[in-house]
Amino acid sequence: MSLRLHRIQRFVLSVLLFSSLVCVSCKSSEKITREVDPTVEAYSIDEDKAIDRLSEAIQHKTVSLEDTTEIVYDQYDDFIAFLEKRYPHLHQKVEKQRIGKYSVLYKWEGNESNLKPAMLIGHYDVVPVSSGSDTLWTYSPYKGAVDEGFVWGRGTLDDKSGIMSIMEAGEYLAEQNFNPDRTIYVALHHDEEVGGVRGAQRIAEHLQDKGVELAYLVDEGLPIAEEIIENVEVPLAMIGIASKGSVNIELAYNQDGGHSSMPPRSSVIGTLSNAVNRIERKPMKASYRGLIVETFDPLIPYMTYTQRLAFNNTWLFRRIIKNKLSNNPATNAALRTTAAKTIFEAGFKENVLPVEGRVIINFRIHPNDTVEDVVEYVRDRIRNDRINIQVLDRARNSSPVSSTKAMPYKMLKRTIEESFGEVLVSPSLFIAASDARHFHDLTSNIYRFRPIRARHEDRSRIHGIDERISTENYIEMIRFQIRLIENGAAEL
Ligand SMILES: [Zn+2]
Repeated sequence: MSLRLHRIQRFVLSVLLFSSLVCVSCKSSEKITREVDPTVEAYSIDEDKAIDRLSEAIQHKTVSLEDTTEIVYDQYDDFIAFLEKRYPHLHQKVEKQRIGKYSVLYKWEGNESNLKPAMLIGHYDVVPVSSGSDTLWTYSPYKGAVDEGFVWGRGTLDDKSGIMSIMEAGEYLAEQNFNPDRTIYVALHHDEEVGGVRGAQRIAEHLQDKGVELAYLVDEGLPIAEEIIENVEVPLAMIGIASKGSVNIELAYNQDGGHSSMPPRSSVIGTLSNAVNRIERKPMKASYRGLIVETFDPLIPYMTYTQRLAFNNTWLFRRIIKNKLSNNPATNAALRTTAAKTIFEAGFKENVLPVEGRVIINFRIHPNDTVEDVVEYVRDRIRNDRINIQVLDRARNSSPVSSTKAMPYKMLKRTIEESFGEVLVSPSLFIAASDARHFHDLTSNIYRFRPIRARHEDRSRIHGIDERISTENYIEMIRFQIRLIENGAAEL
């Protein structure tokens, strides 16, 4: 049966490949005709001043480190004071509270006490610039340079543009004397990059203690991706309705050491390398079903002829689609549980055989799998009882899935369409982790979205070198946040 199917697949594929060679109009000509809502375009934003304030935010070195004794907390205090100074109208309207010392919770009281509050969250801590790499940046990472149509520096993508655009929107609306119907909480966290235990987790606990139930929460998340599928230019704004889990697994191996002049046939390094190699050769199972199908669904009319045929006939082409998507690290991560080999330690001297070694693999768990499935997969792949497999701290399964039928999702989708015009919107799996995970007990409507336009080449800038955001995109973000507060503060 499977042989017959393969033959059919091969036949149909040859026809498709042939037709794509001869078809001159196989490139999709579909265009989105939607435009930015005129009322969103009409917000009168002082663009230069907003960009200066983002630049100033980048200049505060609010760097998160695992070793908290190394953190320069004066920079955090200065940053919080800077926000108060630059956004005076907003600060007059809201109650402000510091929680976990450096995270800030703002509460903008709504007029209608029967409406559940909304919450917008983000983080102002940033990852460090790895030592020696600062010279590779076009502009120094904490200079906040504004040049070539971009603001450059650590945090411009993750996540200072996110929180600064929320503050800009709040200031704009406060100045217009806007009063929300529902209460709006805004939380700016200070330790997202190291797990959020002192910031987001404490804020979530604080709200729970007060008996707060949220209507919805919006956090940083997936971008507006351009060309996420080859040859499809239409931007896809992805709303993360679930996020992956994570587990670190340590493989440890011991054996007798000795002098390097008489090495045994097998070694600690060879055994562990072989185990890693076996895991790399056969990753965990990919699946092109469920959420990922919904993610790409709106793109289908904009695909090339051959792509359309494949995506419209997944019963026949699922395997081909999976292989194609697996070749791109971003789409591969949405298809399956991934394994990143992050630490490998063995040996300390060039002429001494190591007696022990260890590898740490960071798995990001797809909703189809669990921590137990990952452990079973590792055991099954390495097939070596002498390698000790250990699950390290902080393992967690993927998050619950938020509904796309809920009114807050529909409101967010509409807001994206009104603010960005020519974009498609779809639900998606957030492949990273963020502070939203601390809020699952406060609402089942958690959405993760980053209103930033990103192409393939921009992916490495997050946590990487030459992080930057275009000034044009930053102004779009502010317009989006204003509209989000306006739409989201009303009854849904
Ligand atoms: Zn982030």
